[in-house]
Amino acid sequence: MRVDPAFIAGLPKAELHVHHVGSASPRIVSELARRHPGTVPDDPEELRRFFEFRDFAHFIEVYLAVVDLVRTPEDVRVLTYEVAREMATEQSLRYAELTCTPYTSVRPHEDGVGMPIEAYTEALEDARVAAERDFGLVLRWIYDIPGEAGLPAADATLDYALHHACDGLVGFGLGGPEIGVPRPQFQPHFDAARAAGLRSVPHAGETTGPQTVWDALQLLGAERIGHGTSAAQDPALLEHLAATGVPLEVCPSSNLATRAVATLEEHPLPRFVEAGVTVAIASDDPPMFGTTLNREYELAADLLDLDEEGVRELARTSVQASFAPDGVRRSLLAAIDDHA
Ligand SMILES: [Zn+2]
Repeated sequence: MRVDPAFIAGLPKAELHVHHVGSASPRIVSELARRHPGTVPDDPEELRRFFEFRDFAHFIEVYLAVVDLVRTPEDVRVLTYEVAREMATEQSLRYAELTCTPYTSVRPHEDGVGMPIEAYTEALEDARVAAERDFGLVLRWIYDIPGEAGLPAADATLDYALHHACDGLVGFGLGGPEIGVPRPQFQPHFDAARAAGLRSVPHAGETTGPQTVWDALQLLGAERIGHGTSAAQDPALLEHLAATGVPLEVCPSSNLATRAVATLEEHPLPRFVEAGVTVAIASDDPPMFGTTLNREYELAADLLDLDEEGVRELARTSVQASFAPDGVRRSLLAAIDDHA
């Protein structure tokens, strides 16, 4: 490790691939659990053990347990505001595009849980304004389709994005499993979202081959790719990504946790950089994968053998690949330059 972790921890950063519910730390989950007793343990020590990453099935269990705790607009507000607090104070984040999956909170659940989209949106926006005021963190939203829920979820998510849009919404995404969830079926949704001015940021090539990344680019108009890990298998795709400058959002710990990559030594990040592909280092679902954005920068610095200026350059790349307003970009880039 050539770079002091303290340099990375204090470096002002932007994060482009991080999930809303997936960012809930044990501290935040314990707060939500106290609001809804009898669901998840609210004892912080017990929760910390519940959160320890064991395997992908356990990650899904933790994720769904947290989804189930987000029942009211106040839960959305608390979750978002507290996630923002930790982003700003622990990761030195100044800007984040948070991927939200409104479908899982808004649709009526079997047990009658579920809130109106208007209330969901208002809670998000309240938290956004408060986070900027209290923590100096600028938040924007990406609404993503949970792929496993298929076309009904895609229709609903597009409806939220088009007919219940809010000031902070900048992007339209697609997450969940890739196997058995072909990308072409979502082309009309992405066409409509893009026509409304939203930026296309689907996950692709995390658990399937490079064709999924091609589909994301050619059919969904992707302007950034979530993960894109398997692009490393396709030299023509790497060349295309390098030529067009479409960034890959690279989340090393997530890739290991989901077994998209077997070992850190085999991670394709160095290959992407050698090929001239733009990479934005990100954390995905950090507490659930036992990581932080700072830790992902440390891993990337090791994999790429970077010095401090190299790490600053990683941070600049995320700002440049973001959909942040010009003023935010300028001040964040200046703060990165000044960081010693
Ligand atoms: Zn993701």
